[in-house]
Amino acid sequence: MDKKHVSYLDYNATAPVLPAVAEAVTGCLSTFGNPSSMHQSGRKARSTIETARELVAELVSASAPNVIFMSGGTEANALALRGLMTGSGCSSVVASAIEHPSVLAHVPRQDHIPVNGEGQIDLVTLENMLRNRPAPVLVSLMFANNETGVLQPVSDAVDLAKKFDALVHCDAVQAPGKIPINFNELGVDAMSISAHKFGGLKGTGALILRDGLKIDADIPGGGQERNRRSGTENFVGIVAFGTAALHASQSLTSTQNITALRDKLESKILRTLPQAKIFSSGSSRLGNTCCVAIPGLSSETQLIKLDLAGVAVSAGSACSSGKISPSHVLLAMGVRKADANCAIRVSFGPSNTDADVHRFLEVWTPLALNAAT
Ligand code: PLP
Repeated sequence: MDKKHVSYLDYNATAPVLPAVAEAVTGCLSTFGNPSSMHQSGRKARSTIETARELVAELVSASAPNVIFMSGGTEANALALRGLMTGSGCSSVVASAIEHPSVLAHVPRQDHIPVNGEGQIDLVTLENMLRNRPAPVLVSLMFANNETGVLQPVSDAVDLAKKFDALVHCDAVQAPGKIPINFNELGVDAMSISAHKFGGLKGTGALILRDGLKIDADIPGGGQERNRRSGTENFVGIVAFGTAALHASQSLTSTQNITALRDKLESKILRTLPQAKIFSSGSSRLGNTCCVAIPGLSSETQLIKLDLAGVAVSAGSACSSGKISPSHVLLAMGVRKADANCAIRVSFGPSNTDADVHRFLEVWTPLALNAAT
C-alpha cells in the first residue's frame, strides 16, 4: 500500500496490485518468447496466456475462447461499440445517461436512456426507444456505476432487447471482485472488464463476446486474439490479469466485511449530519461504494483536506485532467448542480478496516459540521 496514504478509500478508481500478482509478474519476466512464435519459448508464452484466459473466463463464467485481451475497459468499450455497430449491422446505439465517459463518447446525447433519481434506467423509455428504431439496435448498459455503485436492471434490459432483436453490451468494469457476475446467465452479447480494478495491472482488460457474434476489429494487423485485436499480446499484463482473476474468484465471500464498513460509515454520517445526501442508497448498489454530498462544502475542498490528512477518496468521474467538474451521473439523476459540486465518492476494498472509517470521519466530520453551520 502507498505509504503516503494512511487510508486508501478509492478502490473504484483502482485497486492496489495484489502481492500474488506482483509475485506472478516477477516470475514471468524470464518468459520472453513471442506467443505467436512456433519454438519452445513462444509456445511457453502462448500456454501461459491461455491459462490466464481460462482464469479470466472463470471469473465471469464465460468460455475462454470468447475472451479478447486488450488494453483496458476503455478499449473494450470502444471495440464493443464501434465493432458491433459495423460488424453486426446495428442501426443505432443507445446507452444509459450515467455510463462511463468511455461509453458515452460513442453515443449521441439524444440516444441516452434517462435514469430515475436513484440512477437506474427507465425500462419503459428503453422499450419505446427499441420500438421506434430499425433493428438491430445496440444497447450499452453498465452493470454497476463507478460513482454511486448503483446496479442496473441488466437482465430485464436483455429480455426487452430480445423482443426487439437488439444486442446488449455491458460495461462490467466495476463488478469483478465486488459482486458475483455471470456472463452466460446475464445473457448479454458483450461485456467489458478491466484488470486494475481488482488487483491486476493498469493497461489490461478484456472484451467478452457471445459465441458467433460478428464484430469488426478496431486494430487490424497480425491477427492476434482471433483477429479481434492485433498486436503482440501484453504478456506481463495478461499474467497479472489471470492471477488477479483467480484471487477475485476465490475472495468474493469476504465482501460482506467491506459492505459492513460502508454501512457503518453511512450510518455515522447520517447520525451526525442528517442533511447529508447519500446517493442511490435506496437501490441495489455495490456494497463498497458511498457517494455523499454535504451542501455547501465543495468536493475539491473535501478532497484536498482529506488528502493532506492521508485519506484518499475521489470526486465525480471527470477529474483525469486534475480539474473537478460536476458529475454527469448525478446531474442525470436530477441532482442540483450546486449539490453535485459537493459530492465525493468513498470506495472501500479488502485492505480497509474500522480504522479507515474512523480516520475518514475524524478528518471529514469537522469540515462537514463547519459547512453546515
Ligand atoms: N468503465 C467503468 C465503469 C469504469 O469505472 C472505468 C474506469 O474507471 C472504465 C470503464 C475504464 O477502464 P480502464 O481504466 O481500464 O480504461
